[in-house]
Amino acid sequence: MVFAHLTLCMGVSTCVRAPIPAKRFDVVVIGGGIVGVAIARTTALAGKSTLLLEQHDFASGATCRGPRIVGDVFSDLERGDFAIARETLRERDRLLVERPHLVRPMTGIIALGAESRRSKLEVRFGLWLRRRLGNASQWRPNDAEIDLAKQALGPQRAASVFAFDDATCDFPERLVAEWLREAVAAGAIARNYCRALEVVVKDGTAVGVRTRDLCTDMEQEINAEWVVNATGPFAEQFCSDSHIETPRTIAPLRAIHLALQRFPAAPEATIHFEGVDGNEVMLSPWNGQLLLSAVRPNSNALPFAGPSEAEQDYLRLSLNSILPGVEIRVNTAFAAPVAAFGEGALESPGERNRSLVLNHPGTGKFLTVISGSLTASAFAVAECGRQLGLRTRPDSECVYLPGRGNGIEATLQHWAHAVASSSRIPERVARSIAAWHGRGALCIARLAAGNAELRTTLCPHTDHIVAEAIDAVRYEGALTLADILMRRLPVALSSCWSEECTRTAAQRIGKWMNWSAAQNDLQVECVEAERAAFLVKPGPLRDLSDQLAA
Ligand SMILES: Cc1cc2nc3c(=O)[nH]c(=O)nc-3n(C[C@H](O)[C@H](O)[C@H](O)COP(=O)(O)OP(=O)(O)OC[C@H]3O[C@@H](n4cnc5c(N)ncnc54)[C@H](O)[C@@H]3O)c2cc1C
Repeated sequence: MVFAHLTLCMGVSTCVRAPIPAKRFDVVVIGGGIVGVAIARTTALAGKSTLLLEQHDFASGATCRGPRIVGDVFSDLERGDFAIARETLRERDRLLVERPHLVRPMTGIIALGAESRRSKLEVRFGLWLRRRLGNASQWRPNDAEIDLAKQALGPQRAASVFAFDDATCDFPERLVAEWLREAVAAGAIARNYCRALEVVVKDGTAVGVRTRDLCTDMEQEINAEWVVNATGPFAEQFCSDSHIETPRTIAPLRAIHLALQRFPAAPEATIHFEGVDGNEVMLSPWNGQLLLSAVRPNSNALPFAGPSEAEQDYLRLSLNSILPGVEIRVNTAFAAPVAAFGEGALESPGERNRSLVLNHPGTGKFLTVISGSLTASAFAVAECGRQLGLRTRPDSECVYLPGRGNGIEATLQHWAHAVASSSRIPERVARSIAAWHGRGALCIARLAAGNAELRTTLCPHTDHIVAEAIDAVRYEGALTLADILMRRLPVALSSCWSEECTRTAAQRIGKWMNWSAAQNDLQVECVEAERAAFLVKPGPLRDLSDQLAA
């Protein structure tokens, strides 16, 4: 990963940009993951002068490598945290209403084994409570999907299958890109490839941040009223680099994932089940594949390194224990550290999904904000806003009406049609663009309307076009080809993407970026280095029948 980041820096070393304006910011936010970007958006919308700093590409940390379930509240219910569960479901509904192209409703299935430590009665009660607290009274399970899941799970487990209204976000990195645009539109200054070296503290109060621009190597001291540390898994390290005491420690956990080829009769629902050690494992449809995910102790010295053989075996054994007949074909594997607090975070999803806003004894006007889930980020942001003294209007109530008539398909169709008719983009391509950009697809259509080359696809295998890449450079702060292809338009995460696709995309985009042939080659090299570091190609599968029998 270190190498990948170094090569990424090489990819931006030619970029020229002005220093950060020498003024006193109301808020400097460090970390451009989902938490930092959400805070910067909130402070900018509240009228505060805001600076957002990210050392690599926006959303290139834990945010693009976490599980993609939105609004998991079972652990909150188990702990009796009904208020948090209600807020989480409200935030989930808000995302379903406001970002229907990114956050999708999905049938969720809990599949208990005979040896499960959870009681069926408790699960039933939890689901009943969940329906009462959320807005799911009108939600009806999709019988076809449940039957498919039951068939796949086999007769033994089918008796212990419970359905609920789940939701997923295939690409949290796109959500971050949209919030980033909104933050900048509200006046925030956002800098990627700009590292916060340390917090400047005077008389026990944070008064600014020392930064290094990784493109120009220039160091600056930025003055600020408040400094917010939203560096996720790096939060403790950043405090220690600044000689600031942290009142709590971060548990060394990480999320591990296998992206699998879909197998015949693969469920269309998210399946939550217990792995071979009793901890939660999830299987969900993702990006035309299946994503098998779990949280494990972080035994790896390089926390962003792909899952080890033992971790991959754990996931495959767990899946085979509930779907014994399935042949598991792994496309790629990836992992990320989790910023979770305290003992017991592995066994308790409730602990690790929590969000926390920490004050630091001895350092005023400095906050550390950690969030363990996409929906928990909303509390972290609201709490952070309170501590910063923001006067924000309470969010209006969002009512998401579940069911087939919820309008998501119709809305997507409407955007796709508007894109196609205003830009001569084929309807199928327009639909793919609308699915990733929502209403923003119209902006891309305007850009593409005047030039056929901008309407060209990035490579022959994708429906995404050059105009989307140029839009990402102009409005989403993308500086490198790797950022464009892996996060702004995550085409390079699809199972059929190859180095040849990267080369074609580099040529088609490079023309608009004025990249020389050498710069094109460097960008391609950087994409491939990052792809290799992020998406590990697993070796040949080992025979696990002995371990399964044991
Ligand atoms: C294991 C795991 C389980 C999860 N489970 C769920 C789930 O079930 N449902 C759900 O909704 N969400 C889940 N998530 C959540 C979600 O992915 C994370 O909570 C969220 O992405 C964390 O975002 P962040 O902004 O705190 O961290 P990050 O995305 O890591 O962002 C921190 C950023 O700070 C930057 N940075 C660090 N140091 C510096 C510095 N000195 N200067 C400038 N920048 C710096 C880093 O480069 C990084 O980009 C899970 C995540 C993980 C990893």
